[in-house]
Amino acid sequence: MQPFVLYNSEQRKKVEFVPRNEGQIDIYVCGMTVYDYCHIGHARVMVAFDYIIRFLRSQGWKVRYIRNITDIDDKIIARANENGESIQQLTARFIDAMNEDAANLGCVAPDEAPKATEYIDQMQNMISTLVNKGAAYPASNGDVYFEVSKFEKYGRLSGRKLDDMQAGASERVDVEVEKKHPFDFVLWKHAKENEPAWASPWGKGRPGWHIECSAMSTCCLGNHFDIHGGGSDLMFPHHENEIAQSEATTGEQYVNYWMHVGFINVDGEKMSKSLGNFFTIRDVMEKFHPEVIRYFIVSSHYRSPVNFSDVALKEAKTALSRFYHSFKAYQQVYGQKTVDALEQSFVERFNNAMCDDFNTAEAMAVLFELNKELNRAVKEEQAEQAEQAMVLYSTLRQLTNILGLVQHNVDEFLKSDIGQDALALSDTDIEDLIQQRVDAKKAKDFAKADGIRQSLLDQGVVLEDTRQGTIWRRAD
Ligand SMILES: [Zn+2]
Repeated sequence: MQPFVLYNSEQRKKVEFVPRNEGQIDIYVCGMTVYDYCHIGHARVMVAFDYIIRFLRSQGWKVRYIRNITDIDDKIIARANENGESIQQLTARFIDAMNEDAANLGCVAPDEAPKATEYIDQMQNMISTLVNKGAAYPASNGDVYFEVSKFEKYGRLSGRKLDDMQAGASERVDVEVEKKHPFDFVLWKHAKENEPAWASPWGKGRPGWHIECSAMSTCCLGNHFDIHGGGSDLMFPHHENEIAQSEATTGEQYVNYWMHVGFINVDGEKMSKSLGNFFTIRDVMEKFHPEVIRYFIVSSHYRSPVNFSDVALKEAKTALSRFYHSFKAYQQVYGQKTVDALEQSFVERFNNAMCDDFNTAEAMAVLFELNKELNRAVKEEQAEQAEQAMVLYSTLRQLTNILGLVQHNVDEFLKSDIGQDALALSDTDIEDLIQQRVDAKKAKDFAKADGIRQSLLDQGVVLEDTRQGTIWRRAD
């Protein structure tokens, strides 16, 4: 087992990983709130922790991986009411969809996927302890709040100071007058009419979101465990609040290392429903093979922001296809034959990249170099190259397996022109657009006419207006 470093968000630097128990890593990742299909931001978190865990297991670590499911929440209640279905029906449907998406992306299932509604007792016990210790207080409406000023280290993960936060938040305090500090957060919410509710010492209600993860992680992994992960957007307040609740309850350190996966931007802007640049995994799979989505995620380092666009996915498809083409060329000469011997220099460089905070961008560069070597060895097709070709092929297979790439049948993947079909304009599409442009010109809607010309140009189609009409060609 090679030692590795990881970026600990709490220390804001890369540090060497030291396990709590020899050879074992316990990891909890915040999962999805199941009221809709997973979007590509979720895909990034799922895929990132998937290749991290696959790599650690390949190194011989015994990894326990927990990813929770939030199956009770305002959005879930609202969506179920909107649809006229029960909360159980809605969440069951989206849990199935999530598992299907994760499997399509080649993600190994977590060892446990605890659901919030199955841990209500444990959450209530935790809240009772916090109230008894004076770290939380019930309000008159039946809510229970955590009192942030009672937790001395509040803000240590996100680097925020309570005093600054008070100043910053003072304008919006009045709606929640019962809180002692604007950043006090809800542990237990009193039931409103027609909402699902559980009996509790503070009246009927349901848990707040943050307490879910503290209770479930502790039940599955104990008071203190190795790594807690999630999307960057969860660092504050969600993870900050988890630390406060858990440590105030147990008096022990909660987590040793915090890992956060970076954002996905869409065409340079933050992905959001209001901007209309919001994509579910299913949307993207209509145009691209799911492994292309996985490759797109794997090819950049998990902490860097990435820009999602059709062009980026097309590039991902081209890059991933290079491995498939090499495998195909090899298989035409040598069939599926693999050998036990590996090209150790490549294995070492790959492992070194991954042991440096899971630097997949660097690891991919190593794999492309290896791919080139394999191509060369296969092309030469001489007896003395055969052994070398087999070693290189076996090495590339093993290393791509660790990242969960090149997992599909070579011919099927290369034949799958899902992307091309959906993206490329057919001749008929082009003729249609040209006619629309002619009509727009006749109607003196020159902005529309220019827009069509530009859009065609962006897609590689050049128009030329002649006396006989508009002719077109595809640019090279
Ligand atoms: Zn969480």
